[in-house]
Amino acid sequence: MFKKTAGFGAVGLIALLIAGCSSSSTDSGAAASGAPSCPTAATPVTVSVNQWGNIVEQLAGQCGSVSTVVTASSGDPHDYEPTTGAIAAFSKAKMVVINGAGYDEWATKAVQANNSSADVVSAATVNNVQPGANPHLWYNPTYVTNMANAITAQLKVVAPDASSYFDERQSAFQAAMKPYFAEIDKIKGGAAGKTYGATESVFDYMAQACGLVNLTPAGYQNSITNESEPAPGDIAAFNADLTSKKMSVLIYNTQTEGSVPNQLVNKANSSGVPVVNVTETLPADVGTFEQWQISQLQSLSKALGLS
Ligand SMILES: [Zn+2]
Repeated sequence: MFKKTAGFGAVGLIALLIAGCSSSSTDSGAAASGAPSCPTAATPVTVSVNQWGNIVEQLAGQCGSVSTVVTASSGDPHDYEPTTGAIAAFSKAKMVVINGAGYDEWATKAVQANNSSADVVSAATVNNVQPGANPHLWYNPTYVTNMANAITAQLKVVAPDASSYFDERQSAFQAAMKPYFAEIDKIKGGAAGKTYGATESVFDYMAQACGLVNLTPAGYQNSITNESEPAPGDIAAFNADLTSKKMSVLIYNTQTEGSVPNQLVNKANSSGVPVVNVTETLPADVGTFEQWQISQLQSLSKALGLS
């Protein structure tokens, strides 16, 4: 697989070592405004990656003290090596939220080694995702909904006195997610005949939910899925498809660094195939999970000529 950087550098490492994790359980977006205060002590919740972390923050509100280990500056979750501080964040948690599906195996290990009594909510388990499946579960709208429901259910188990508070947070989250589903429906409504190629599989669940046909050359896609370098013939096939504008758009994960994705983006640009930028994790300059996703969906809609 391609090397990814995502701002992964000395600064990010040091920040992580000092903080151990980032924590912001309040004011986490549209769903937080006007909320009542928590009737109980805040529950310590540790989340492996910020794609889920922000959702947990919104659902837990003031009743959660949420620590998220992999943030925008922590590098690629696929290759993440937890620091001592990150492992400590798991030790103190009453509840742990992970992606699963082999994506954040380090988190599972940290919980097993340090805090086996913590309640773990895994997106893979909640959605019955089989081993070897595409692990980018937060890009699947159905999985996100199921996971949000499971997180709320578990919060109510851990802090039953705050049950009605968590129900209100769940309602607020669902309201905040309405424009996200509306954007998906809009693209789906105009998706007939629309296709895409992707530099990697991060966005595939969402593209499928939007009704787009994946025309990424099979050989290239297999290499990416198996985390190996694509063969020259597969790269050439991808380039040829871009040159002939076989695909409506090219989906590009900007957190991927490598000569092959860069070359494909350049080819798309020179061929007049619109490039849609997506990211693996929630960017630092975006408020909430849904704002992040909606912004990307709007870019996709525009690139497809639907808005
Ligand atoms: Zn990925």
